[in-house]
Amino acid sequence: NTKRTPKPKWLRVKLPTGKKYSNLRKLVDKYDLHTICTSGSCPNMGECWSEGTATFMILGNVCTRSCGFCGVKTGRPENVDWDEPEKVARSIKLMDIKHAVVTSVDRDDLKDMGSIIWQETVKAIRRMNPNTTLETLIPDFQGVEKNIDRIIAVKPEVVSHNMETVKRLTREVRIQAKYDRSLAVLQYLKDQGIERTKSGIMLGLGEREEEVIQTLKDLRGVGLDIVTIGQYLQPSKNHLPVQQFITPDQFKKYEEIGLELGFRHVESGALVRSSYKAQKHLT
Ligand code: SF4
Ligand code: SF4
Repeated sequence: NTKRTPKPKWLRVKLPTGKKYSNLRKLVDKYDLHTICTSGSCPNMGECWSEGTATFMILGNVCTRSCGFCGVKTGRPENVDWDEPEKVARSIKLMDIKHAVVTSVDRDDLKDMGSIIWQETVKAIRRMNPNTTLETLIPDFQGVEKNIDRIIAVKPEVVSHNMETVKRLTREVRIQAKYDRSLAVLQYLKDQGIERTKSGIMLGLGEREEEVIQTLKDLRGVGLDIVTIGQYLQPSKNHLPVQQFITPDQFKKYEEIGLELGFRHVESGALVRSSYKAQKHLT
């Protein structure tokens, strides 16, 4: 199925404006700062940046995995840049970011799977930006506790790991990942005392309503605090096609179900991305 359905009107967004946004945009261009917001052309840039939130990607921009939904390039990643932690910390300072989300490609090629750079990045950010709060959106580190422990040790305010989709579709959507392993990572984070754990799923990949509800229940089952639910959009025609555009009413329904299940926060809507309104999740 290569036919593209036109986007419904609730997915069209206005271009971002505002002084804070345009100042940040200039900085990012001038210093060649690396954010997912710009490289992924995120529709929420205006909103997030004017609130002082941005998402940074570390460990390069080539991933060892090849998830069917993701626009990041797959291949052999470049060597680790040991100055990266300092660079990211400096960017956050220059951009005057109040709440930073840090994420990374998956580095299955490295013995520590990138967890040392992860830890150094959080430490550098803390050192240079003592008032900035942090969410780390981590890979599964193949479930290896020693690697996850490096994140836990530096106590980010929020630690997230995305399920991305329901159990049945995981193999197709996140080829090298496993549904149960991701759940186990979230359980481990909670068991080790992370105060706010978070996960995200995308809809429109062919999942059924009862499967979405089951995923929400599974996430509550591992003590998850915050969940984000958004519409999947195809980054290019080589990626998985959109099977369905979920209506605003259906998103609302999942939000209500999520709140009933006891999540602390549920962000559910077509344009919701895992770092959308991330600052709100500190409460
Ligand atoms: Fe950046 Fe995430 Fe906000 Fe998009 S939703 S602008 S990626 S912080
Ligand atoms: Fe994209 Fe993450 Fe999958 Fe890599 S592991 S392809 S960055 S979603």
